[in-house]
Amino acid sequence: MMKSIIRQLAIHNRILLASHTRPDGDAIGALLSMGLALEKKGCQITLYNESSIPAVYRFLPSVHRIREQLPAAAEFDAAVILDCGNLERVGAASAVISRIPVIINIDHHTTNDHFGHYNLVDESACATSEIIFRLVRAMEVEIDPMMATAIYTGILTDTGSFRFPNTNRAAFSICEAMVAAGVQPFVVAQHVYGTSSMGRIRLLNLALDSIEVSHDGHLSIMTVTQDMLKDTGTRPEDTDGLINYARWIQDVEVAVLIRELKNKATKPEHSHFHVSLRSNGDVDVARIAVSFGGGGHAGAAGFSIESELSALKAVIYHFSDHFVEKP
Ligand code: 5GP
Ligand code: MN
Repeated sequence: MMKSIIRQLAIHNRILLASHTRPDGDAIGALLSMGLALEKKGCQITLYNESSIPAVYRFLPSVHRIREQLPAAAEFDAAVILDCGNLERVGAASAVISRIPVIINIDHHTTNDHFGHYNLVDESACATSEIIFRLVRAMEVEIDPMMATAIYTGILTDTGSFRFPNTNRAAFSICEAMVAAGVQPFVVAQHVYGTSSMGRIRLLNLALDSIEVSHDGHLSIMTVTQDMLKDTGTRPEDTDGLINYARWIQDVEVAVLIRELKNKATKPEHSHFHVSLRSNGDVDVARIAVSFGGGGHAGAAGFSIESELSALKAVIYHFSDHFVEKP
C-alpha cells in the first residue's frame, strides 16, 4: 500500500492535506511533516484544518500555513487525510473533500473505516506521525529540523510523553532519530507542557471540582460546561489533557470527560456534548465510543451526543456496570 500511495503522490501535483477538527499534536505534526515532505518532492500543497490551532502548538514551523478555509474540490488532484478514523472527522469540509478524485487515508485508529481510495492504516503505530516517518523515509525525502520537530511533537503528545499504552519501540527510535535530525526536546516540552494561561489554571480548578466517581470507584466523570469556559476566559482547546486528572484517581478503570459544545441543540433542555473516554488498562473504550457513533483506540476514544447532562451521566454510569474487557 505504501508503494501505491507514493506512486499516487508522484503522479499528482495539487495536493490537499487535512486532519481532524480540534487537532491534537499528532493531527498537527502529521499534517505539517507530510505537507513539507510533499513540497520537497515538488508538489503544490494546501494544509487544512477546520479548527484554530491550539496556542501550545503554534511554535511549530510552518504552522501559520494551515488554513481554516477550504478551496473548491476542483483545485485538487488528490487529498491526504491524516489521523482521521472516518472522513467526517475533518469536519464540515468532508462533503467537498469527498469530491477530490484521489483520497489517501493515513491513520492509526482501530476504528478506521477505510474511507480512502488508498488506505495506509496501521493500528500498531503509536501515532499517525510514526506512519508519516516511515512514509517520508520510503519517499527518500531527507528529514529536516522542521519536519523532525513536527514528527517528534506528534509522537510525544500522542503517547502522553511515552506513558500511554500505545507507547512502542518505534516511539523511542523515531524520536531519537528526530533529535539527531535537530529537534530540541526541552524547547518542544516547554511549548507543549511548560506554560499555562491563568485562565487555564482556573479552569483546571473548576474541572477538578466537577469530578464524580461511581459507587464502585471504577469510573470517574469530569464535566466542563460552556459557563466554565466563559467564567475563566478559556477556549475549548484549554480542556486538552484535563481528562488525565480523572484517570489518575486510584481504582479508576475508565475516566470520562464530558465537554459541553457551543452547537445549538434541538431542545431547550438539551446541549451538544463531546465525550472523551480513557482506559487505565483492561476496558476497551473504543467499543463504548463506537456504540455511540464515535470511535478511537482501545485506550482513548470519544463520541458526540445531544442530550440533557444528567441523562448523559446516567447513561455513562450505566455502561460502567457493563465494562467489556479487552480480549
Ligand atoms: P479525544 O477524547 O481526545 O477527543 O479523542 C480520543 C481519541 O478518540 C482520539 O484518537 C480521537 O481521534 C478519537 N475520537 C474522539 N472523538 C471521536 C469521534 O467523535 N469520532 C471518532 N471516530 N473518533 C473520535
Ligand atoms: Mn493520533
